[in-house]
Amino acid sequence: MKAAAFDYVAPTTVAAALEALVGAEDGRVLAGGQSLAPMLNLRLAMPRLLVDLGGITELRGVSNDGARHRIGAMVTHAVLEDGVHAFADRGMLAFVAAGVAYRAVRNRGTIGGSLAHADPAADWPSALLALDAAVVVAGPAGSREIAVGEFLRGAFATALEAGEIVTAVLVPELSPQARWGYYKICRKAGEFPDAIGAVVIDPPRGVSRVVMGALDGTPVLLPGLSLDAAPEAIATAVAAAAPELDAVDHRLHAVAVRRALARASAP
Ligand SMILES: Cc1cc2nc3c(=O)[nH]c(=O)nc-3n(C[C@H](O)[C@H](O)[C@H](O)COP(=O)(O)OP(=O)(O)OC[C@H]3O[C@@H](n4cnc5c(N)ncnc54)[C@H](O)[C@@H]3O)c2cc1C
Repeated sequence: MKAAAFDYVAPTTVAAALEALVGAEDGRVLAGGQSLAPMLNLRLAMPRLLVDLGGITELRGVSNDGARHRIGAMVTHAVLEDGVHAFADRGMLAFVAAGVAYRAVRNRGTIGGSLAHADPAADWPSALLALDAAVVVAGPAGSREIAVGEFLRGAFATALEAGEIVTAVLVPELSPQARWGYYKICRKAGEFPDAIGAVVIDPPRGVSRVVMGALDGTPVLLPGLSLDAAPEAIATAVAAAAPELDAVDHRLHAVAVRRALARASAP
């Protein structure tokens, strides 16, 4: 199948992209196209206008305000995987990026596109929730910052409003004492996972975040779990956070969380 006809614009600034979206009857932005292009070809999405963000240099930048890294929405998984930019993240961003699909997808897929797409099984939503990151969104009314936990509203649903685009992700710096772990269970290499565990423990900053992801909806924080949490405590937390899952899925998710905690504990 081929995509339905659409108009196409390729602005070079965020302001021009927002302007193109204003008044567009059914406008959609194109980032890496790794999720959107198949949807177009299957006609699951039939926008009248595609606004290609690929030529907007300001969306590919990375900077630091002293406490948080600002990662442009169009930064690709591959750029993060390759360590092109230095982050005070103890290597977590590169590790997570390297596990997204396979290299051809990572070369084009973007961190902003992944968050905006909000696939429940995607890696960035869970990892960035564990990191307590925030999303910067720009729209006709200006720019706003939203915590990842509030930005993600459900499966393929976000807090983005009409005419808004994700411009950056803000990731807090980890202290040198921080520990993290990320573990996902996939049936085949390069496929979306069935279960994700993501952990960030940063005592100097008072941060302790354990996330269970690849659920039917958004990833969730599991309260009260420490690095040395017993398997029974993990199983109880998983079951309490997702009572809708069956026993097999509870076990799968508990294993992912347990292994993420084990990785975070490893010397
Ligand atoms: C074979 C395959 C395997 C994959 N496996 C995994 C995996 O294991 N883990 C994983 O995490 N991901 C996986 N992905 C998805 C991949 O990570 C994509 O990169 C990601 O989902 C979308 O990013 P994109 O930049 O390609 O966005 P696009 O496909 O261009 O856009 C996706 C959606 O987000 C919207 N959008 C994009 N950017 C913005 C923005 N800045 N502001 C507002 N809206 C925006 C678009 O309008 C569209 O609706 C896989 C993809 C493929 C094709």
